[in-house]
Amino acid sequence: MIDVQDVSKKYGDFTALHTVDLKIKKGEFIAVLGPSGCGKTTLLKLLAGFMGPTEGSIAMDGMQVATAKKVVPPEKRNIGMVFQSFALWPHMSVADHVKFPLEYHPNRKKGSKAELESRVQEVLGLVGLETFAKRYPSELSGGQKQRVALARAIAPLPNLLLMDEPFSALDVELRMEMRKEIQKLHKETGASIVFVTHDQSEALAIADKIVVMNAGRIEQIAPPEVIYTRPETPFVASFVGKCNLVEGQWKKEGFVPDGDAKSVWPDLGVARSFKANGIFPVRPEQLQLALAGNAGLQGQVSFVQYQGNEIHYTVEVDGTMWTVHEPVYAPRFHVGDAVSVSLKTAVLQERELAAVLK
Ligand code: ATP
Repeated sequence: MIDVQDVSKKYGDFTALHTVDLKIKKGEFIAVLGPSGCGKTTLLKLLAGFMGPTEGSIAMDGMQVATAKKVVPPEKRNIGMVFQSFALWPHMSVADHVKFPLEYHPNRKKGSKAELESRVQEVLGLVGLETFAKRYPSELSGGQKQRVALARAIAPLPNLLLMDEPFSALDVELRMEMRKEIQKLHKETGASIVFVTHDQSEALAIADKIVVMNAGRIEQIAPPEVIYTRPETPFVASFVGKCNLVEGQWKKEGFVPDGDAKSVWPDLGVARSFKANGIFPVRPEQLQLALAGNAGLQGQVSFVQYQGNEIHYTVEVDGTMWTVHEPVYAPRFHVGDAVSVSLKTAVLQERELAAVLK
């Protein structure tokens, strides 16, 4: 268990982290998600022990490892690290990269030469590089280099694996492939993982829990499905996927959107902060279009984008732009069409999910 308590970090006069609280359970896979400059790397560096907090403390497995006064350095923590830049040593072979931490990591178990060699082979097998043991970094592709960096990090069985945008140098196909690799390794090693990314689909796809950060603060910590379907702040709603922040009135029976007194949208577990501001956050795929005049809010189609599996509409409703995603088999609309917008029937049936998530 890792316990980050009331941690602030200042660089000179600038506060990069404001009283951050975070608990990471043993074996948990956490994605830290946020825009550039929000403090993701700062949090990771504090977890690694590259620097100490300005205030607050960090404990790992019940032992205090960092306060403003004292910091246990990275080499004395049982951690592994993977960076965006791979950070491989050009003069060392693939096998040597894996062997190095087995010889020098604080968690190493002294064993015979044969045991060492067999662990190197085992770890290379885990990342699919058995046949590349003798190659040097300059003889590897980007994906293979990243696998070496992963193998080096997991070889000494760290309790905590820290990854800073590890796939951002890879192309889309490889990223997808590496995501699966990480999920597999997570299962096999049982290590806790803290994975920094600014890519929301990456965070949604791989983590047990997402920590959404904005301007040095944590906005929400929750499993991916809760982050997406039950955002707690306008920032989370619009940073993780697209979201229409519909204005209206919250009444006992539900939400009545401005401009459509006849509709009552059920409370699907909307966060208190939205209710206090008279807002219903609704995802583009939760809305549907029909010909104008039907029940719903009346609007006009401003843009249409074909996406293969979906059509993305931008609809002007009373001076505000709404985004609506419809499946390709739904009735089609064109720029200039007068339409009505309402909640999809399937969304109304989502009440059951809301009850489970509450
Ligand atoms: P990115 O996604 O762009 O890597 P990040 O969320 O990881 O961003 P950090 O690297 O943690 O952001 O930086 C948080 C803030 O602290 C930024 O505004 C950055 O400019 C500032 N910062 C980081 N390191 C230092 C430093 N050594 N001295 C002064 N300011 C710093």
